[in-house]
Amino acid sequence: MGLKVAKFGGSSLADGIQLTKTKNIITADPARKYIVVSAPGKRYDGDVKVTDLLYLCKAHIENNLPYEQVFQVICDRYMAMAINLGVTVDLFPEFEKIRQNLQNGASSDYIASRGEYLNARVIAAFLGYDFVDTEGLIRFDAKGRLLTEETNEALAEELKKHESAVLPGFYGTTPDGKIKTFSRGGSDITGALVARAVNADVYENWTDVSGFLMADPRIVSNAKPISRISYKELRELSYMGASVLHEDAIYPARLANIPINIRNTNLPEDTGTMITDGVDHGDQVITGIAGTKDFDVIAIYKNMMASEKGFIRKLLTILEDYDVGVEHIPSGIDNISLVVSKKDIEGKIDDIVDEIRRKLAPDTIEVFEEMALIATVGHGMSARQGTSAKLFTSLAEAGVNIRMIDQGASEINIIIGVINSDFEKAIRVIYNAFVE
Ligand code: ASP
Repeated sequence: MGLKVAKFGGSSLADGIQLTKTKNIITADPARKYIVVSAPGKRYDGDVKVTDLLYLCKAHIENNLPYEQVFQVICDRYMAMAINLGVTVDLFPEFEKIRQNLQNGASSDYIASRGEYLNARVIAAFLGYDFVDTEGLIRFDAKGRLLTEETNEALAEELKKHESAVLPGFYGTTPDGKIKTFSRGGSDITGALVARAVNADVYENWTDVSGFLMADPRIVSNAKPISRISYKELRELSYMGASVLHEDAIYPARLANIPINIRNTNLPEDTGTMITDGVDHGDQVITGIAGTKDFDVIAIYKNMMASEKGFIRKLLTILEDYDVGVEHIPSGIDNISLVVSKKDIEGKIDDIVDEIRRKLAPDTIEVFEEMALIATVGHGMSARQGTSAKLFTSLAEAGVNIRMIDQGASEINIIIGVINSDFEKAIRVIYNAFVE
């Protein structure tokens, strides 16, 4: 029969109708024993997620504005859900406790975490599963970094005692007992940690799309679904902007070799995308294309650069001193380019360039703005000759100027830089060249 951990996102839990679909999915397969939940998401376009309402409460308090009305809206959503589902869980003491903590200056992480906490309480009662709080089980160090192994042991130890359970996603605790959340969308990470702790056969991640598509459907309208993808390929794609699954959710699942299956709560018959270790794509050359706009490129040329020891280290130290991360470093014998995100370098670029001039005396240094990066990813590329030729020829024929090329040695990823205004066109051209 196997054992499944199923994580449901906010849209799957937004109201009574969605929760009923979720319950049907869970009861359809007795292997779905451990359920991880997000906070209720949007019920319709223009609706507000509970997590955002909770952050709003905190913002009101910080600005000395009355927060009660917003808090009441949140309580009402849970009450309506509980009544709708005929669940008899007493939420009033919970609301009261949260209200008290809010008044006493509780942290933003604590407040945000209550969305998942309350939801897990309601859903555990609805399913007749145990409620297991992740407070004290998911552990962070004092600096807020996840303690992966400690967490694994604590979760495994606790979950042994429960045949089936609902756990809130998104948060854990620091050594001083304070609640700490992951970054937004972090319930995906909780799901992966739980899957590893119980040694699940599969980690199902239920959302409102039937898995990954080969390209952003807002750019390629009929983009094909990806039925299988490797952890590595997905990592390359999520890093570049494909955002169905929190990128940090891949690591714990991969560590235990647990496949992740992205599924659609609204179309449960779709098999979705399966993320596993090695994937044989058959004849298929590329698995997906993803990209992000708004990078700057600092291009540096210096004669005999290659023989100047410590040049790259000094260069990177300057960026580090300004707290700017570097995305890519394409280089030649006497030149090097640093690709940095615009929002990271905004307001600092002139100072950085001055400092590079002073410390490294390059012959020329130029900054190219408005660059977009596009990653074409696929294990199928590594075994085949002519993949890059096809990619570059099709772009050239379409009149897209490639400003930068970066291909890792693993050959599962070719990254190109184009100007922002060519971004969408370039993705469509690559898609048509390889897929259509
Ligand atoms: N509720 C949190 C958010 O909206 C976490 C999650 O849903 O994964 O980001």
